[in-house]
Amino acid sequence: MSSPTPSVCQGGGTQPPGKPLPPSNFLRQIIESDLSRNAYAQRCWGGTPGDAAHHRRGVLDPARIRTRFPPEPNGYLHVGHAKSICLNFGLARDYGGVCHLRFDDTNPERENQEYVDAIIDAVRWLGFDWHDGETSHLYQASDYFDFMLRAAEYLIDAGHAYVDEQTPEQIRAHRGDFETPGVNSPFRDRPQAESRQRFADMRQGMYPDGAMVLRARIDMASPNLNLRDPVIYRIRHATHHNTGDRWCIYPMYTFAHPIEDALENITHSICTLEFEDQRPFYDWLLERLLEGGLIQAPPPKQIEFARLNLSFVVTSKRKLAQLVSQGHVQGWDDPRMPTIAGLRRRGYTPESLHLFSERIGVSKSDSWIDYQTLEGCLRETLDRNAQRAMAVLDPVELVLDNWDEVMGTGFLDECHAPVHPHDPERGQRSFKMGKELWIDRSDYQDTPAKGFFRLFPGNKVRLKYGHVIECTHADHDEQGQVLRVHARLLPDTKSGTAGSNAVKVKGVITWVARADGIPAEVRWYDRLFRDAQPDASGKDFLESLQPNSLRVLSAFIEPSLGNARKENRFQFERHGYFVADRIDHTPERPVFNLAVGLKDSWNPHA
Ligand code: ATP
Ligand code: MG
Repeated sequence: MSSPTPSVCQGGGTQPPGKPLPPSNFLRQIIESDLSRNAYAQRCWGGTPGDAAHHRRGVLDPARIRTRFPPEPNGYLHVGHAKSICLNFGLARDYGGVCHLRFDDTNPERENQEYVDAIIDAVRWLGFDWHDGETSHLYQASDYFDFMLRAAEYLIDAGHAYVDEQTPEQIRAHRGDFETPGVNSPFRDRPQAESRQRFADMRQGMYPDGAMVLRARIDMASPNLNLRDPVIYRIRHATHHNTGDRWCIYPMYTFAHPIEDALENITHSICTLEFEDQRPFYDWLLERLLEGGLIQAPPPKQIEFARLNLSFVVTSKRKLAQLVSQGHVQGWDDPRMPTIAGLRRRGYTPESLHLFSERIGVSKSDSWIDYQTLEGCLRETLDRNAQRAMAVLDPVELVLDNWDEVMGTGFLDECHAPVHPHDPERGQRSFKMGKELWIDRSDYQDTPAKGFFRLFPGNKVRLKYGHVIECTHADHDEQGQVLRVHARLLPDTKSGTAGSNAVKVKGVITWVARADGIPAEVRWYDRLFRDAQPDASGKDFLESLQPNSLRVLSAFIEPSLGNARKENRFQFERHGYFVADRIDHTPERPVFNLAVGLKDSWNPHA
């Protein structure tokens, strides 16, 4: 006789983590300590989220830990979320666990499908996956509304919740403050059956928004204001993007979140510090539901870390939404936005955001991270990979007047440069030099400022990868603006040929030939805000908007860029790193965005 399939999950099993772990931090220490004492080893997993009975029918949870990333789909994700994603998915990966992507969609008014899709895109693009084999761990909190209702009814029946019919103003006024204890509601001690009936009527849609609420019955004198009978359900006659018009009562976030974690078997519920004061309620609620046998033991635990504050940006979805809706930027994915979609369009790579997240680490106290740290991570990853190219961003013509005599009329001289200076295997790029070239306007001065070693009458410079030239003069228009710069080519000075260094120069400039240069639009971005902390201490962040944070330049690029595809990234020598725009770029009409400047570089537009 074969042994019967156990109806109750039993036994224990762990799987070893994979590769060596990154540097430790307090989150890793907590997880390692929990794992070493098998704190979560006895949990069962019913194959899908569910209550205690559902999980009991399952198998021992094959995931050693479960974390989650729980965005509210009320906007696009930003760089702070990227930190949280890297953290939660990274910890699950490192400890043989699973990370769930959960839409915390308990707030019907502000959420929609566009945001859901954008969030999925962003997490995927960062390289994370919520699949574990065949199982997709993508969940929606709104799928748990039935259980939440049941949990609320249980709390009422057990004397832990009541329907309060005070007005919102009365509830607020009776809450007290840090010095004064709250005042009990006159409805606090009403019979449980009466609360049950009212709650059922609320659910049936018999009352308008705000007429009454369901409150947990804890302690109106608690020093923690969050335990003074917090509201757990409210009436909202609103259509929900997932559940439609099925519900007219919705759980409060603080009630919903611990339940979502418990149903999903989350072990470590990692959130930002502002939820620290909510932790006692998180624990209180899960203890009550454990007493009622509704959820599985042991319950998840909430652990707080310091949110990312990044200088020169705002990271509140509400404020980002305002920038979009008021037209200060061209959309959620505008390259000036600190959204993941914006950073991507700006040229950021997933790798650069992983590096950033690792470098800033996690801590228990709030601090500001300098925007340059983020830029540094991008520069570092691009420097290793980005193909080099020459581009002239603010073009003015340069004519080599002795070209015909020295090189031959109509002759085009082939020049070569490495695709990547530290990686000879990537080969060479080639382009032509001719009599007429484009150079950057700022590479010429009629009267040189102190320390200026580039083109001015009488001075010699090297055209990068080409010959040394000597500037003779420039043509000007009536306003005195330079129209054309003139120079002579010095024979036998071509870069890479014997004796090319015989003439010493102090300056090297980049250029593109008129003959094979390709016109391109270059979008030059500056920071969106002037202030390092645009929204600190209640300031109106819009007042700190930088007026000219986007400048559109008509540039010329070298011919090797002619087959650049959307999202290819390059270093334009001397200028910075650029990305072919993922929306507007085409080979026929190239569009490049400034990703980040070169470190300590001369900035032609400063
Ligand atoms: P916002 O105020 O911009 O709407 P939020 O925290 O309300 O942000 P959620 O969608 O609720 O946004 O966040 C999903 C997860 O991302 C949460 O676990 C939250 O703690 C985390 N998160 C949000 N902002 C940051 C940040 N700046 N740094 C680190 N983690 C963050
Ligand atoms: Mg939120």
